[in-house]
Amino acid sequence: NLNLRVKQILLDQKSSNVSVKAFVSGQPAVGQMDGREITELGIPLKGKQGTYGVVHLQLPPGQKEMSEMDISLITMMADTAGVAFENANLLEQSNLLIQELRLINELVQRLNQSLQLTDIVHFAIFELMSIFQAENCCIVQLEENGEHSTIIGCNVRAFENRVLYGDSGFSGHIQSTGEPVIVSDYSKESAIVSELMNETGSKSMIGVPLLMSGKVRGSIMLTHTQPYYFSYNNYKLLQMFSTHIGLALMNASLHAQVRRLANMDMLTGLHVRHYLDKVIQEHQQEDFCGSLILIDIDQFKRVNDTFGHQKGDEVLKIVSRIIKDSVRVEDLSARWGGEELAIYLPQLGVYQALQVAETIRKRVPGETDPSVTISCGIAEWSWLDDQVSIEKLFYRADMALYDAKKQGRNRTVLETVDAELMGQIE
Ligand code: GH3
Ligand code: MG
Ligand code: MG
Repeated sequence: NLNLRVKQILLDQKSSNVSVKAFVSGQPAVGQMDGREITELGIPLKGKQGTYGVVHLQLPPGQKEMSEMDISLITMMADTAGVAFENANLLEQSNLLIQELRLINELVQRLNQSLQLTDIVHFAIFELMSIFQAENCCIVQLEENGEHSTIIGCNVRAFENRVLYGDSGFSGHIQSTGEPVIVSDYSKESAIVSELMNETGSKSMIGVPLLMSGKVRGSIMLTHTQPYYFSYNNYKLLQMFSTHIGLALMNASLHAQVRRLANMDMLTGLHVRHYLDKVIQEHQQEDFCGSLILIDIDQFKRVNDTFGHQKGDEVLKIVSRIIKDSVRVEDLSARWGGEELAIYLPQLGVYQALQVAETIRKRVPGETDPSVTISCGIAEWSWLDDQVSIEKLFYRADMALYDAKKQGRNRTVLETVDAELMGQIE
């Protein structure tokens, strides 16, 4: 037809329209054009898996019917066209599938290149926005206790690190139901009030739960200001991506946990020695000065011999707790050896460190059972020193500790350099 117009046809079972009849039944249909003496034919375009359309014919005025042979010829042609259409469709679908697989593969590879949580989050946001051509992307993580969640990443900076309570917004809804959400036009469907949608002026949204070990641990949301922007396929693809993003995030947090545990001493809850070494080294490159307190429990062997090793362990734990109580957040306490503990105080000199050591020393006998005392040795470094090294700092603090033991224990001694100048302090 030269004057082709696009018109919508309702697929009503009872319709007398030949195209609808042919499409719904999958069989050729013959009818009379309303009010006119014109015969119409509808021949379905069928493939192996379904009907894809209809060939619509009008016979010349006056011709009442078409011969059986003509109809079967046209039906044969329509069948051939239907199969060709079906094949083309399948090819397009498989191309899409291949493209999706390629995207997933790429994303997974890139996600696993880093074990840094923030890297993974920012990379995921960047990729999701470009794959789906979305305007905004938000990744929310549910906190361990499940009481609130945090926006761990969003292209809108103002949203990042925002803390969300309860089931509010789309993230709350997704996290509490574990179900994905597709919003076609937010300005019309407003069952859920969303800050993300409101503040970005978005109308379309797809959101899926973020799963870790099969549990809902957060949500991922993509938005666009245009209504009806995302397709069902977009949402299915996002769901697939979210599984991989969840895995990458879980790997990163497990890795961080292992790193944290590797730096901690299990018995005392203090840091381990190599971590202390590392931190002091870092400070020596940045700071002007710092002090080190070495602490050794007095006659500890006797505690073990008299009360048993387990009781000894308890005493060690109490002393460690007193130490943790007495230092600033920026100070670092560690288990240096068996019952030898250490505190590094960045940017503090020996006299300030002395206050800290003395506070601890005075508390220990009253809070330990069996009651014990401790000896402390203190040394400091400063950027004016000829040579700055951890070994020297430890050596000098250890010498001071040795002096404290020699002088009768239960005391704090400053390193020799100062001790010579200032006299020894008990
Ligand atoms: P002093 O320091 O006053 O000279 O006497 P001391 O008896 O404490 O001597 P030293 O510091 O050399 O003793 C270390 C003892 O600490 C040896 C060991 O039995 C005990 N010890 C070391 N690590 C632990 C531990 O983790 N738990 C327990 N219960 N005892 C430990
Ligand atoms: Mg000791
Ligand atoms: Mg010792």
